[in-house]
Amino acid sequence: MNTLDSLTGPFLLVMILVALGYAWSCAVYPYKACRSCRGVGDFRSPILRAIRLCRRCNGTGRTLRAGRRAYNAAVRVRRSIRQARDRNRRDDDR
Ligand SMILES: [Zn+2]
Repeated sequence: MNTLDSLTGPFLLVMILVALGYAWSCAVYPYKACRSCRGVGDFRSPILRAIRLCRRCNGTGRTLRAGRRAYNAAVRVRRSIRQARDRNRRDDDR
């Protein structure tokens, strides 16, 4: 048994733990501060101090994290597949 084989097991275990931790963290904290306005949600113009809402986050000051966006996309794909399947079943019954 060489050294590479002895390191693969612990490395995989650590990577799985990190992935599970990230998934948990995205489930509990789905939002992060907007990168453009740094979580404030608006900009002040330098001349008249007028307020302009951030275009990136629509003035909320927060955006979805990458892991949560991927999860939401997977849920949408799964839902559309199920709806198409159920629609086909309904059509077959007639
Ligand atoms: Zn923003």
